[in-house]
Formats: sequence, structure tokens, C-alpha cells
Amino acid sequence: LLIAVEGIDGAGKTTLAQKLAEQLRARNIAVAVGKEPTSGPWGAQLRASAAEGRLSPEEEIRLLLLDRRQHVDEVIKPALDRGDVVILDRYYPSSAAYQGARGISVSEILFQNAFAPKPDITLILDVEPAVGLERIRARGDKPNHFETEDNLERCREIFLNMKLPSRVVVDASVAAGEVFKKSWEAVVKMISV
Ligand code: C5P
Ligand code: MG
Repeated sequence: LLIAVEGIDGAGKTTLAQKLAEQLRARNIAVAVGKEPTSGPWGAQLRASAAEGRLSPEEEIRLLLLDRRQHVDEVIKPALDRGDVVILDRYYPSSAAYQGARGISVSEILFQNAFAPKPDITLILDVEPAVGLERIRARGDKPNHFETEDNLERCREIFLNMKLPSRVVVDASVAAGEVFKKSWEAVVKMISV
């Protein structure tokens, strides 16, 4: 079972991914958690680009695809083959949203990601950009140059409108426990726990 956790910055993806993993493991289900961009060489360049804004969107797409191919081959597919539940903190819908917001065609980005296993559930954590940005500041991070309300609103619109199988939109403006409850309902439908 492949679960993608998606949404704009400050939506609560990392918190939710950890809680889902914890609850599944408490039921003796093996879980692998992955985060994209990864901490590998291409992922690191992407994070630097997001922080400093130097790469073109085309170059970001090129790096994202290299990063994702490696992640799929070395982590995601082996874990799925073992029968683990795989939880991803960002996956190709983030590429569609973020690089789409920089002007690349969303359908073209999705097409280029056809090699990547399709999530069985894509949880879109939906929150207003102002709320997400406030959470980033509250945790002591400085939003990067790229994380403006306008840009995150474009990303949010793309997340809400892109065609994805098994998409579940969860209101992420509420407390983390509530976001978990709604997400868990979607997960238990797919798995006998
Ligand atoms: O998920 P996390 O907040 O760690 O992502 C790091 C940053 O990478 C995000 O703030 C986002 O701005 C950027 N990013 C991007 N394009 C992607 C995925 C993430 O610019 N496809
Ligand atoms: Mg972030």
C-alpha cells in the first residue's frame, strides 16, 4: 500500500506521516517512510534551489526526476515488494504543484512521472497559505523567498485541481489530531487493521 501525503508548506505533512507510521506499527504493520526531495545528491540540490531560487523550473524538473527514479528504485519499490506500507512525505504531486506554479505544464509533469508507482491514497492536506506560513514561522523557520502567499496559493490550486487516482482532500486548518483522524479513516478503508 502506497500512501502519499501532500500539501503546501506548513500543512502538516511531516507530522501526519509520522503519526500514520506510528499507528500502523502499533498494529504490527511494517512501514517505510520516505521524504521527497530526498537527502540524496539531487534532492540536496533541489532544496538549495528552493531556498535560493537559482535553478530554472526545467532544471528543477530534471533533478526531481533523477531524485525520484533513485528513490523509487532503491526505497519505494523494494519496500512495496516486501509488503510494507510506504508513506511518502511529498511525491510527484508536489512536482506538479510547485513546478507547475513556476509555469511548467501540470499534465506534462504528470506524464513524465508515469514510471513512478501510483499512490493507493493521496492525502491532500488543504490549508490557506497564510495559515501554513504562520505555522512555518511558529516553528522557528523562516519561509524561503519562494514560500509567498501568492505562490503557495498557486500550488494549492494545482493540488486541488490535478487529476489523481484515490485522492482524499483533508481540511488541514484544524488540530493535528483531527487531521490524523480524517486521514486514518481513509487509510483503514484500504487495509484490514
Ligand atoms: O517538504 P519540505 O518542506 O521539506 O520541502 C522543502 C522545500 O522544497 C519546500 O519548501 C518547497 O518550497 C520545495 N519544493 C519545490 N519543489 C518540489 C518539492 C519541494 O520547490 N517539487
Ligand atoms: Mg517546508
